[in-house]
Amino acid sequence: MRILLVEDDEILSDGISKALKQNGYAVDQVANGYDADCALRADNFDLLILDLGLPSMDGIEVLKNLRSRMSNLPVLIVTARDTLDDRVIGLDYGADDYLTKPFDLPELEARVRALLRRGLSKGTVELVFGSLKYDTVTKRVTVEDKFLELSAKEISMLEIFLQRSGAVVSKEQLLEHMYSWDEEVSQNAIEVNMHRLRKKLEPCGIFIRTIRGLGYLLDNSN
Ligand code: CA
Repeated sequence: MRILLVEDDEILSDGISKALKQNGYAVDQVANGYDADCALRADNFDLLILDLGLPSMDGIEVLKNLRSRMSNLPVLIVTARDTLDDRVIGLDYGADDYLTKPFDLPELEARVRALLRRGLSKGTVELVFGSLKYDTVTKRVTVEDKFLELSAKEISMLEIFLQRSGAVVSKEQLLEHMYSWDEEVSQNAIEVNMHRLRKKLEPCGIFIRTIRGLGYLLDNSN
């Protein structure tokens, strides 16, 4: 799950980012509205956390632009503006939820989980592929109801296959989903994680096929 965090208070931004990364999310941070607007046009995210009072472009402008492109990306507004008017304007322009500063990090984490759950599958939290089940909230993977232990990166990789079940996933899509901009990704990071995930899935009868020139495909036929 990849989150864009837009906040010009550096200390707050780093605090939120750290907490979310500990929960296994990939987090990209930007500190002004213009950069946020550019990032949202260029990249795919699963959630936007947006401050309203921002340099160069107001958060409401960023939100308006996003929705004018017909994006249904879940948006959580996080701001010190706490008058009823501000709240109503934010929600009117298409924010999904609103958190007033100061707030506790566990509260933010709970809102993030709720929004991602809603955005993913409208109520369903479980993604299923053959005998494999993945709970998108607890991030638990089971095969025939037995727990399968996977690393955070392996889960992140499996997640994108399950979200696009039946479709070929390119290496670029895997990179985009699994890593934020500031993470160093070595050339073979995808291959290494792919190798490990394959080794864990194969005994369960689930295979990741390589489709030459295109990417990878999740498959449970022999
Ligand atoms: Ca601000």
